Amino acid sequence: MSAERVRAATRVCYACGAETTAPAVRCDCGEPLWLPESTDATSTDASGMWRHAGLLPVDSPGGVADAVGDTPLVAPDSVADFAGVNLSLKLEGHAPTGSFKDRGSALAVAAVEAGYAGDVRAVGTVSHGNMAMSTAAFAASADLPCVVLVPDDIPESRLGVIAQYDPTIVRVDGDYGRLYERSLELGREHDIAFLNSDVPLRVEGQKTTAVEVCLDAVPDAIVMPVSSGGHASGAWKAVRELHAAGRIDQIPELHFVQASPCAPIAAAFERGDETVAPVDGKETIAYSIANADPPSGNRVLAAARDTGGTITSVDDDATRAALETLAQAGISVETSCAVALAGTRKLVRSGRLAPDADVTAVMTGTGLKDASGSADTAHATVDRLDAVLDEVGADR
Ligand SMILES: *Cc1c(COP(=O)(O)O)cnc(C)c1O
Ligand SMILES: [Zn+2]
Repeated sequence: MSAERVRAATRVCYACGAETTAPAVRCDCGEPLWLPESTDATSTDASGMWRHAGLLPVDSPGGVADAVGDTPLVAPDSVADFAGVNLSLKLEGHAPTGSFKDRGSALAVAAVEAGYAGDVRAVGTVSHGNMAMSTAAFAASADLPCVVLVPDDIPESRLGVIAQYDPTIVRVDGDYGRLYERSLELGREHDIAFLNSDVPLRVEGQKTTAVEVCLDAVPDAIVMPVSSGGHASGAWKAVRELHAAGRIDQIPELHFVQASPCAPIAAAFERGDETVAPVDGKETIAYSIANADPPSGNRVLAAARDTGGTITSVDDDATRAALETLAQAGISVETSCAVALAGTRKLVRSGRLAPDADVTAVMTGTGLKDASGSADTAHATVDRLDAVLDEVGADR
């Protein structure tokens, strides 16, 4: 077996150091596993995220996968002013299905195709949002069957976006929260690789967001919204690997932000705990990141502490103000991204981030899938349009 193949087939525990070659997702100690550290940060001229080939267990299979990664970094003054800091935004909404999940899905599906997940005949995921759409899209591109487990009460509009890639969609009755673990067990019995939010292969692809941020110019801090902790885990692994490989001299602080109505990781951080206790989550406009029992919660705590960062939470009013600021800069994002911007502002106001710090906030997904906003409209007949057009810009 090649060294790459061995690395791709091995799983290690960040917490206790245990190692296994079983296709496991969790360590016996209960913590999530990930692939062994790669210290080969060689870059190639491959497309998108595949450029960081030394850090990845597989190469691009081509096709739409080549369009994943290399997302833009922009720095609108109005957004920096709102946050009160030198702020850049990494626009993950530019991915093929509109979120960073594509990094994880593209890599995981390529690894499954290369036989790294054992003898599986299909892939699957538990999601009713971006991850479902992303996994289904990359499975379709690889001509792999895909099964998506959604909650029974999923809105029809969301089903439509997932259904375009023609996966088997199963509406599941009962405790949707239990499905995360249960799907992994069932997947093993049915030879289906469940590519859930923080599984090792998904984390391996999702680490490329932070790789790209750091190789552009290492910021003092990276701020991201957090839900399951899969993306955050990837960011932590990325900065450790780049540092170990000598590609960066300094590790940026990793700051993670949750919506306060459902913020179990932030609560544990504030208490100084090393483990996250599940909460009774309340409604929030940032519903896509409202995870009351995050599978990689403890790993996120470790990531923030290890890098000198924080985990904080913001209320929905702060999120609304951030969302408006982003929209006024012409940037359409999912609500979770506004949570990250509101969190950045909070960290600057509290003095936790210096006003002259270089900060990159990750805008994890596009707002173009989210049709929930309300609209003020004017109305006119063709003959009366004159009067309306005269008024355009009058309120500036
Ligand atoms: C999935 C997702 C998140 C949260 O990422 P986790 O890996 O679950 O912590 C944040 N924003 C968007 C747009 C997402 O799709
Ligand atoms: Zn362990």
